[in-house]
Amino acid sequence: MATKTYIIGNWKMHCSPAEASLLVNRLMKEVTRVSSDTVVVLCPPVVDLTTVRAELRGHDRFKIGVQNIHPMDEGAFTGEVSAAMVKDLVEYAVVGHSDRRHIFHEKDGFIAQKMSASLRNGITPVLCVGETKNEHTSGHSKQVVFDQLDAGTSLLTEEEIHQIIIAYEPVWAIGTGENAEPQDAMKMFAHIREWLTAKYSQAVSESVPLLYGGSVKGANAKIYLDLDDCNGCFVGGASTNYKDFAKIVDAAN
Ligand code: PEP
Repeated sequence: MATKTYIIGNWKMHCSPAEASLLVNRLMKEVTRVSSDTVVVLCPPVVDLTTVRAELRGHDRFKIGVQNIHPMDEGAFTGEVSAAMVKDLVEYAVVGHSDRRHIFHEKDGFIAQKMSASLRNGITPVLCVGETKNEHTSGHSKQVVFDQLDAGTSLLTEEEIHQIIIAYEPVWAIGTGENAEPQDAMKMFAHIREWLTAKYSQAVSESVPLLYGGSVKGANAKIYLDLDDCNGCFVGGASTNYKDFAKIVDAAN
């Protein structure tokens, strides 16, 4: 059984190192308690990783994630950062985020290679999946998510599947203030567990943490955290608001 609750904050392209330092300091003062079953993962831009790591020293319930990695460990890929390069700085990597899929046109095969690169370097990948508005309204959400799961995990062994996290993030709910209906999110979690059972085993299905992402705020986090099969929240916009992010962490306690 997945026993931990994950609150993952994706800062996106926000914060210089000085701003990152201030944000973490404020967050540390605002968060009064993190339960032993909760893991809070901060995913700042790469340029802030060293700063955030230094600020988090001694706070062992806070972990660090990278927002993106390149599938190769090194090479002539100008501007890119590999899992091998950040493996001493982070424990988690976001893979397949909708910003990467839609703005940077990343395809499933590329995402699958990133999953492998992450695990090869000892980093837990957080595979983001989710349907667009059109796919949602035309009733294709489950198939789209299954296709993304099939492709994203296609290079992984069964042993490696135990080590991943899956974030269900309907694209239309990201950064829009338009949340998925909790019942719909819960149904999707059940579908994902069915997919894991059918493809791997009941044990795998029960062990992989499933998170909801899409306009999560302090005011609604608990609704999602209380859903059957939900093991946490993936937070974008609210993660750079230390007061609101602290409320989300609090909702997990
Ligand atoms: C995200 O960036 O994945 C996200 C869920 O953003 P927001 O919380 O702002 O919707």
